[in-house]
Amino acid sequence: TLTALPVSVRSVYDTVVARNPHEPEFLQAVHEVLDSIGPVLDEHPEFVDTGVLERLVEPERQIMFRVPWVDDEGILRVNRGYRVQFNSALGPYKGGLRFHPSVNLSIVKFLGFEQIFKNALTGQGIGGGKGGSDFDPHGRSDAEVMRFCQSFMSELYRHIGEHTDVPAGDIGVGGREIGYLFGQYRKITNRHESGVLTGKGIGWGGAEVRTEATGYGAVFFVQEMLAVHGETLEGKRVGVSGSGNVAIYAIDKARQLGGLPVTASDSSGYVIDDAGIDVDLLRQIKEVERARIAEYAARRPGARYVDGGRPWEVPVDVAIPSATQNEIDADDARVLVDNGVRAVAEGANMPSTPEAVEVFQSAGVLFGPGKAVNAGGVATSALEMSQNAGREHWGFADSEHKLRAIMRDVHAASFTAARRYGQEGDYVVGANCAGFERVASAMYAQGV
Ligand code: GLU
Repeated sequence: TLTALPVSVRSVYDTVVARNPHEPEFLQAVHEVLDSIGPVLDEHPEFVDTGVLERLVEPERQIMFRVPWVDDEGILRVNRGYRVQFNSALGPYKGGLRFHPSVNLSIVKFLGFEQIFKNALTGQGIGGGKGGSDFDPHGRSDAEVMRFCQSFMSELYRHIGEHTDVPAGDIGVGGREIGYLFGQYRKITNRHESGVLTGKGIGWGGAEVRTEATGYGAVFFVQEMLAVHGETLEGKRVGVSGSGNVAIYAIDKARQLGGLPVTASDSSGYVIDDAGIDVDLLRQIKEVERARIAEYAARRPGARYVDGGRPWEVPVDVAIPSATQNEIDADDARVLVDNGVRAVAEGANMPSTPEAVEVFQSAGVLFGPGKAVNAGGVATSALEMSQNAGREHWGFADSEHKLRAIMRDVHAASFTAARRYGQEGDYVVGANCAGFERVASAMYAQGV
């Protein structure tokens, strides 16, 4: 049910399909971008003449490696590690590492491809990359996670560096993992090279607001989308999926701004709390105890846990999917629309299927795609890199202020590009065109 692509980009897509036959997520991400950028190519024939598109869809470098480690029982385990260095026209490769059993080349490439445009949209000097492993941290001890991270870095270190490639966190990779990864990099290289990883601890090069940035930024983007129509978050019910970094801090900021976040979830089910999710309790359960979301309902009077359910059946004004790719299908989207959702902002990367996006857009729902909505995380990583380069540490209020301004700019760039190409209000087209124009101009200027 994918839309027909414009003639100008169809042959590029056909080549990508032929070259990557078993990579559905990657093809989905490429299709979405190619579907949007026809008007930019019409204005810039030089991009076509220099094969910008043909070059853009092929990663500059893809690394796959063995990650052997020994578990607490003394049993040898072998996982696979990935780092896809997709595009460095705008700066060093930049993007997170995902540790999750579902990770494969297709998923790393879709994430790396998205990252190029997201990073371009922030206006900062960062290229696009992504990595990870099919390692499952759930149920593993700290010592096991440490040995895994050390083994992972024992190979990765030779491919990264503050001017080369700067990984950070993603699903399954938070402050704990970044700490172990950084420690191993420092030991192997004998360099305290702060700028090689972002998401570090405050006190050894980490930036204030990095932990909160993706979730806070997503809510700032919602504020901007609503403001175009003279609306605010005040009194609006907000549905959030996930219970990781993005979800927790989207809930936190939505509450601070007068919204009522009522759901959170994990892969087993979701909780609904009509009094508004208690952020401190959620943080205690997920960040400190690393327990399941069901625990939230067990400890919070008035909250309910729905085993096996998904939060989209709960009526909300604003939805912020913050769990994982393709978590909202067309049926979920229809339920949200029927229940009166006004805005959907993707905190996760590509959480809506193409069919779900179509449902939202044709119903007139404000729809913010992940590469714009969740850009605050990587943007704050770039602020961390700046601080590391200058051996500085900026305060919380100052850092949040910078994030707020960046999200305003990301929204404005997406909104303006959509309008310029005659699709006012379509943030998918706007984000893709604005991001593509910036990276394509750099690739054109730098030659083949
Ligand atoms: N994993 C995050 C993302 O999807 C952040 C990456 C980073 O900070 O480099 O954008």
